[in-house]
Amino acid sequence: MAQTKIKKECGKCGGSGFLSHYRAISAGTCFPCNGKGYILTTQSAINQKEKRKQQKEEKAALMRQWSEKKMNTFLNEFAEDQDFLNKMKGMNPEGNGYQLAFNLMQVFEAQGKFEYTEPKPF
Ligand SMILES: [Zn+2]
Repeated sequence: MAQTKIKKECGKCGGSGFLSHYRAISAGTCFPCNGKGYILTTQSAINQKEKRKQQKEEKAALMRQWSEKKMNTFLNEFAEDQDFLNKMKGMNPEGNGYQLAFNLMQVFEAQGKFEYTEPKPF
């Protein structure tokens, strides 16, 4: 069944049909809408796009949770008796121990001193 076409404002150029950073390439004409400022789509295509966006966000959230759990496991294992995180902060002039701890975790992992057994969510 053919679906009704819907005029949708082009998300790339915001409806102007023009992208200033393409000025040198195509006189600024927006590629996705070909300078019209809108694209023709269907409701099901819009729904699908929205669904994909949602799935992507859910995946990212799961990945963040997993990374946090991994970092906490690492810190619990190595921070216990030596105030590990404080030392990390002291070594970093910015006072942000997290990036340093992350780097150290990678080194420990590569050397086989730390292993996180929970598999990645996907
Ligand atoms: Zn456009």
